[in-house]
Amino acid sequence: MYRAPRGTSDILPHEQGYWSFVKKKASDICELYVYQRIDTPVFEDARLFVRSIGEETDIVEKEMYSFEDKGGDLITLRPEGTAPVCRAYVEHGMQTLPQPVKLYYMAAIFRYERPQAGRYRQHHQFGAEAIGDSDPALDAEIIDMAWRLYINLGLKELTLNLNSIGCNACRPAYLDSLKSYYSRHKESLCADCRRRLLKNTLRLLDCKNPTCLSISEQAPRSIDFLCQECAEHFDKLTGYLKLLGIPFSLSHRLVRGLDYYTKTVFEITPEGETGAQVAIGGGGRYDNLIEQLGGKPTPAVGFATGIERIVLNLKKQQVAVTDTPTPSVFIAYLGNEAKKKAIELISQLRNAGISAVGTFGDRSLKSQLKQADASKVRYTLIIGEDEVKSKTAVLRNMAKGEQQTIPIDRVITSLSKH
Ligand code: AMP
Repeated sequence: MYRAPRGTSDILPHEQGYWSFVKKKASDICELYVYQRIDTPVFEDARLFVRSIGEETDIVEKEMYSFEDKGGDLITLRPEGTAPVCRAYVEHGMQTLPQPVKLYYMAAIFRYERPQAGRYRQHHQFGAEAIGDSDPALDAEIIDMAWRLYINLGLKELTLNLNSIGCNACRPAYLDSLKSYYSRHKESLCADCRRRLLKNTLRLLDCKNPTCLSISEQAPRSIDFLCQECAEHFDKLTGYLKLLGIPFSLSHRLVRGLDYYTKTVFEITPEGETGAQVAIGGGGRYDNLIEQLGGKPTPAVGFATGIERIVLNLKKQQVAVTDTPTPSVFIAYLGNEAKKKAIELISQLRNAGISAVGTFGDRSLKSQLKQADASKVRYTLIIGEDEVKSKTAVLRNMAKGEQQTIPIDRVITSLSKH
């Protein structure tokens, strides 16, 4: 028996209601904030991700689905959405458009991770990017957009964690301080962190190992090392968030798992949960990325949220989502002539924009009516031998349990009225 690969799942019809609900709310938000949709390929040149996400990150070191294709090119299945959007921005000369360029995507993301609840090898993200302006008001807009999405979805009890990790000017001094703090605790660190101490100091704050976690509590804070520009940026951002009525907690351990961030980083987590694996969404500013990818220096900010984790939280918080649309009319028939009439009518109904369904296979009328009930249709049309002769059909209003006989050539007009 074949099964879906480990860490992937089928989104079955009964789950689709959650998915279309989330996607609809996400695209509505983008319309409201005037962000335009972009779709990029599922795979890219592997170097795009190594360069942007950073060689020493978990994603690049352990999680990418990379392989050489038949032409000998090394390609990678998209492990995140920002780098491809920035690649497209540069490739299509979007710097000549009025700035900032505001884009959003909904895309499958691939990471070779240890599967567990809310952590999969294929998941889906909705993300938004505002490229081409350094104003902290734009950071606030991105955070506001994420926050409003969760509110519109009906999610409650979320916490916004916020931090600033500075820029190329102020981060080196912070990293030195972090390094010397962690060096004093070297003996207690996990093997990964001892390596991080040499190669990727900022990631030390990211470690989930309980001992490393407790050491990180007393670690120096990046916000104490910000240069004037970064400090002002952060100050203005927190001011705007207060203005917008968005509550936030400062979290000095928050650095995010990708190297391209500068200044603002944020994550939104369901209340009572901490640690990166439970964040429902996150993002930040990445002022150097476009330049790193060969574009002109271009500041930018964005966020991404996992659709599976949203669905998990909607279920956990018992948020009712609107049902998937059901057909309006079920057509039951008895006998060969009635079947021909039914086939014709179903087509005419669909031509008129009325969703219609019938069960073929010549089942008993009783079994067809049972199915009509189960399909939660609003109306059932019944055509038997008598109706064929008298050119009529029986129209049953399923909710009211009432039925009436109507001329068959009046079916469409009569149902259109309803
Ligand atoms: P990241 O780019 O890692 O910050 O991911 C953004 C969001 O995508 C997270 O906040 C999660 O909601 C979701 N996400 C990330 N990795 C996974 C995964 N392996 N499985 C499911 N959702 C994920």
